[in-house]
Amino acid sequence: MYAKLQAHLQAELAQIEKAGLFKRERVITSPQNATVRVGKGQDVLNFCANNYLGLSDHPRLVEAAKLSLDSHGYGMSSVRFICGTQDLHKELERRVADYFGTEDTILYAACFDANGGVFEPLFDEQDAIISDQLNHASIIDGIRLCKAARYRYQSADMDDLERQLVAARQHRFRLVVTDAVFSMDGHIAPLDQIVELARRYDALVMIDECHSAGVVGPTGRGATEHFGLRGQVDIITGTLGKAFGGAIGGFTTGRKEIIEMLRQRSRPYLFSNSLPPAVVGAALATFDLLAESDELHTRLQANTERFRSKMQAAGFSMKPSQSAIVAVMLYDAKLSQDFAARLLELGIYVVGFFYPVVPKDQARIRVQLSAAHTFEQIDKAVEAFVKVGKRLGVLS
Ligand SMILES: *Cc1c(COP(=O)(O)O)cnc(C)c1O
Repeated sequence: MYAKLQAHLQAELAQIEKAGLFKRERVITSPQNATVRVGKGQDVLNFCANNYLGLSDHPRLVEAAKLSLDSHGYGMSSVRFICGTQDLHKELERRVADYFGTEDTILYAACFDANGGVFEPLFDEQDAIISDQLNHASIIDGIRLCKAARYRYQSADMDDLERQLVAARQHRFRLVVTDAVFSMDGHIAPLDQIVELARRYDALVMIDECHSAGVVGPTGRGATEHFGLRGQVDIITGTLGKAFGGAIGGFTTGRKEIIEMLRQRSRPYLFSNSLPPAVVGAALATFDLLAESDELHTRLQANTERFRSKMQAAGFSMKPSQSAIVAVMLYDAKLSQDFAARLLELGIYVVGFFYPVVPKDQARIRVQLSAAHTFEQIDKAVEAFVKVGKRLGVLS
């Protein structure tokens, strides 16, 4: 029975390999941190994790996870509404809402689920969803699961957004949805203008804060803090898998009735298991830590600024960015791969991205800074970039 599908898959896989798009996993044998151990024991400086605040191996989170294992057990063996809600889950939902200045929060197993389960319970064929062209795959999939009419605007293009808002006028409800920070460039969506347009055209606003929460804004509380719009965005989704410790988990936070309706009807919430106590306990420790001090965010900002300014001075071309993502532009696909390989030989772990992940002739190396990096490590990375840049003719 399998032979026909097998032959089909083998041919398809060979095609992927031939196009140079085959994905391979690099095995790490250490915890996630500023340095990681890869392959046969080589220690490399890590500039490609979403470990923005350096919390992935933070002693306080590890300790909180252990304590929660002891006090609340290992697994929940239930969805939330049957017997999968502990005091820890309720407390974390409250803490996430406090952090973002919203009314209520609902937890999911991942932000992929939060985005997958947010549209369908709230909107139907009478409504319209207006989505930034570069939005994350989970937003695109979530919109597909919903019967609302779909409109798309050119990324961060406010003239085009306005055209789509005009085109969507006849619908009952309109929702504008965007990534707050776009992961390939690191730039922030113009949320101030989006909110203003949404007001003018009577639309709701949703943002995905996965790459901005903990990172942008004066104290890292995300895009709504950055633009002075706390409490004014209707729906925010985010992850516990990036800045907030990097384990697993997602959330939707925002208007009270919206969150309440998601608890009634959101399918990934109703039909998927509850987050384990160790993860929830460590997430609570994360928000304790962030409430006590902005130190990690301040360090992340200083690190990002140091890397950008040194790379600028060295003559590299970079996309404008307000986040901890720095896209070092190399334009040529093969060059981006060679460049990353040579950096790895020098102990710097970064990833080169090329078409179709980014537009044609826009190949780049994406560098992600972390509060866990020291200035010394950042300087070492810049030195390696310069060395390889000269060797490969990117710098003169
Ligand atoms: C990483 C990411 C997600 C998915 O988050 P998970 O919690 O890992 O499922 C969703 N949206 C955006 C913009 C992301 O960057």
